[in-house]
Amino acid sequence: MREAFKEALSRFAAGVTVVSARLGEEERGMTATAFMSLSLEPPLVALGIHEKARILPLLEASRAFTVSVLREGQEAVSQHFAGRPQEGVGLVDGRVEGALAVLRCRLEAVYPGGDHRLVVGRVEAVELGEPGLPLVYFGRGYRRLVWPS
Ligand SMILES: Cc1cc2nc3c(=O)[nH]c(=O)nc-3n(C[C@H](O)[C@H](O)[C@H](O)COP(=O)(O)OP(=O)(O)OC[C@H]3O[C@@H](n4cnc5c(N)ncnc54)[C@H](O)[C@@H]3O)c2cc1C
Repeated sequence: MREAFKEALSRFAAGVTVVSARLGEEERGMTATAFMSLSLEPPLVALGIHEKARILPLLEASRAFTVSVLREGQEAVSQHFAGRPQEGVGLVDGRVEGALAVLRCRLEAVYPGGDHRLVVGRVEAVELGEPGLPLVYFGRGYRRLVWPS
């Protein structure tokens, strides 16, 4: 069942985000595909974050977080914030530079979800990057969208 569960979920295509939070001098980012839009009125988003993720206490204490939606070609950024450090990758002004879109959120609620937490944020500001294609994660690897011609 466990393997079939993981295999089934690997067949769900997802965009890739980096969730980031700051508390005083400490700032952390984490790659997350468990991201969804939740509500339009009010504007809410939700993220599934592992209970042991180091970003979780920061996010809960600061009551704020930022979601950067990664674009095609930002595989190294995703790898970096998933614990595989890459040269020259970091946060600028609390978000990923060159992201497709950035959502600045106030923490609305944190719900239990097994070994993860369901983190709900109210979107307070949106920054739109240059339009483009997203980075996609599917079948345990990074993929590119192919636009039908
Ligand atoms: C495609 C993909 C999707 C994933 N989706 C999810 C998901 O939806 N939910 C989930 O819980 N996990 C997800 N993960 C796993 C998650 O990204 C890793 O487990 C992550 O390393 C755990 O983060 P952490 O908060 O414990 O922080 P750390 O492991 O401490 O941080 C992660 C990495 O980011 C770097 N970093 C952190 N802050 C900064 C900073 N301010 N400047 C520069 N570098 C910094 C660290 O050096 C480290 O290499 C996903 C992983 C991948 C590859």
